[in-house]
Amino acid sequence: MVKHCPICNRTSDKFTFYGEFCSECTKKDIVAKVNKDIEITRCKRCGRIRIPSMFAPPDGDGVEAIINRQIKPYRFKLGEVVGNKAEGMVIDDSKRAEADYGFEISFKDTLCERCARLASGYYEAVFQLRGGRKKVDAMAGRIERYFEHYSEFISRITDVDNGTDVYVSSKTMATSFVKRNRLKPTMSYTLWGLKNGKRFYRNTYAIRLD
Ligand SMILES: [Zn+2]
Ligand SMILES: [Zn+2]
Repeated sequence: MVKHCPICNRTSDKFTFYGEFCSECTKKDIVAKVNKDIEITRCKRCGRIRIPSMFAPPDGDGVEAIINRQIKPYRFKLGEVVGNKAEGMVIDDSKRAEADYGFEISFKDTLCERCARLASGYYEAVFQLRGGRKKVDAMAGRIERYFEHYSEFISRITDVDNGTDVYVSSKTMATSFVKRNRLKPTMSYTLWGLKNGKRFYRNTYAIRLD
């Protein structure tokens, strides 16, 4: 009844077996199959990582998702990232076996679209906030938090005599901010250029805060 592992001759009375192989040889086999460096593309400006069509915070969930994509059909459960090493457990669902393993991560620098735009002073819309300083500042802060929350950005904030101009990265987000806060801006449009043969406009939202 006692099984002998065909690789190392360990016996099933002392070791767990997965099929005909002992646990130690099964673990070695799993490790050998997933043994490769994991490449992660990282934005050198904001540190977010690409997974795979978008950029996400460089946290454990992101790292785990990237590794899982690269070692299919095995799965990886991340313990922790230490320096350039992702320590955790590789799971082989077909054998219901798992092995501790640490992946070496090689980071590839890039600039994400958001940071590239930010660096170039990109903006699609301007909020012209006018009125008392306190109200203007409060509204500018709200715009800033709103855009950052949705991974967009403020490219410039300029104080003028009777208010502040806030230059923002997205017309779509600007419109949703206006709607959500039930603001009644005076809209105007400035021709910016051509994009795919179409005229492209920047929106200006003039808002009185009295
Ligand atoms: Zn064995
Ligand atoms: Zn970035």
